[in-house]
Amino acid sequence: MHPAGLDLDEERHIQPRERDRTIDMEGLRGRLRPCSATLGRVVVFECRRCRARLSVPVVLGALPGEAATPDAMPTGVPCPPRMAPGTYAVDNEPFGPPYVPAGDGRYRIAGGPRRTFVLAPGDVAGTVPVSDPARRAGCCGPDGMDGPNLKCASCGAQVAAEVADCWTWQEVRLYPDAVRASAVVKTA
Ligand SMILES: [Zn+2]
Ligand SMILES: [Zn+2]
Repeated sequence: MHPAGLDLDEERHIQPRERDRTIDMEGLRGRLRPCSATLGRVVVFECRRCRARLSVPVVLGALPGEAATPDAMPTGVPCPPRMAPGTYAVDNEPFGPPYVPAGDGRYRIAGGPRRTFVLAPGDVAGTVPVSDPARRAGCCGPDGMDGPNLKCASCGAQVAAEVADCWTWQEVRLYPDAVRASAVVKTA
């Protein structure tokens, strides 16, 4: 069990991977143990090292298989984030470096950490860019392909990768070994 009570194994099971697949909400709830319902639970992400808050309150959503990129938008029209604001998703696929050989060595694919948390950029707070410009490479903005490029503003831990180039979806990836999800407790 995750320290914050977030059962990541269950999140893996309830995350749809296929594009256009709709979520069977009742079916999902039926598979969750009552004590660890993750659907609909509001969490904030925190820095594992210093507990600084790194996001606004968000709820678990599905990871969109495809999303608009800025160069697909009409001139002057802002590109929407990949995740709807107020939601996050868990990506079970490896993200970022190291890039590992695939296709009999014909190309390389991401071999980085699995289960990164994907958020809309506007929902992430308390981070500042890392000082290494190579980590923030990209033509119009950081493409997020070089590892963590955002650090905790409070303690400096490398916590996230901002993906914000013209050819990429607009998202921020929080690294699961650097952050924790903390349930937001409703007060009466
Ligand atoms: Zn660009
Ligand atoms: Zn920190």
